Amino acid sequence: MYNIALIKGDGIGPEISESAISVLETINDKLDLKFSINQLDAGDGALKNTGKALPDETFDAIKSSDACLKAPVGETAADVIVFLRRELDLYANIRPAKSYPNMNALRDDVDLVIVRENTEDLYQGKEFEIDGAVVALRIITEKASKRIAKYACQTAIQRNLQKKVTSVHKSNVIRKSDSLFARACAGVAKEYSDISFEEMYVDACAMNLIRQPESFDVIVTTNMFGDILSDESAQVVGGLGMAPAANIGDDFALFEPVHGAAFDIAGKKIANPSSFILSIKMMLEWLGTKYDDKKCFDVADKLESIVFDVVKSGIKTKDIGGDKTTLEFTHEIVSRLS
Ligand code: ATP
Repeated sequence: MYNIALIKGDGIGPEISESAISVLETINDKLDLKFSINQLDAGDGALKNTGKALPDETFDAIKSSDACLKAPVGETAADVIVFLRRELDLYANIRPAKSYPNMNALRDDVDLVIVRENTEDLYQGKEFEIDGAVVALRIITEKASKRIAKYACQTAIQRNLQKKVTSVHKSNVIRKSDSLFARACAGVAKEYSDISFEEMYVDACAMNLIRQPESFDVIVTTNMFGDILSDESAQVVGGLGMAPAANIGDDFALFEPVHGAAFDIAGKKIANPSSFILSIKMMLEWLGTKYDDKKCFDVADKLESIVFDVVKSGIKTKDIGGDKTTLEFTHEIVSRLS
């Protein structure tokens, strides 16, 4: 039995959380894998109700769970997800972008993953006002850069596709911090003789993600660049509604959609839950690795191929060109889980 902490979040968060709960409950009922789901409050709603965006009980429950699923939160994202990433040392943010069939994608042969450093950079929130100017500290350390570079190289080997790592930075302009990051990545890559390693400035990477996205395998980059490039890569393969993410540390991991709370469509019952359902798939793979549990991998594969088949058959939510509601789409996924 895996104990899963689930944060329902804000905006479309509660709607896609209902889908995630249905998927987990169906796995519980129909497949040989058991979860207990602990639904927790965090985000704008929690701040309003309890005075804290991340109540202590929520934080404690997350720490004692086997893994956390987190729907997007709104204005309080920095107090919730940025805090959790740093406090739990979830240093690797893994954001795959993969072509699914029958999508409004730029190309149908993209299979890349962005490995984003998750604890440093401008996300440390160290901003000061000095003599009328505002200064934001961009913190990059050799230790964290080497750690993420190692994770990226190992990811390229595990994926066993192009076995290529592209280190993305802007060391020609941000000379000290990005040169440190670039040197750390190049140094670590030398220890992996069977992967090919290349470097790219972030502006060129943004362009090449549109021009030849199929040429990428694993992109390793700093926190802010990774945030921006992963929204772009999600759009290249059809949109944010299909984009899952994992925040991974040495002992714990948290899984969430790439997108935010999408307040513009909240309550309309049209949100695409695939981003959260595919986050469950990533969670199952992580649990499978951690606990050496083959059943987790089997269910992860099954879940992904169901999402693949459902969108291929034209059953889609509005954001990806269909007319199904969140509930109808979820029902289609759940009914195929057996
Ligand atoms: P943040 O800065 O918190 O990441 P954002 O301002 O980039 O948020 P998102 O909430 O990520 O905005 O969403 C951008 C747009 O993409 C939304 O306006 C919404 O219409 C669309 N979108 C995002 N996620 C989904 C989804 N799961 N289903 C359908 N549409 C979505």
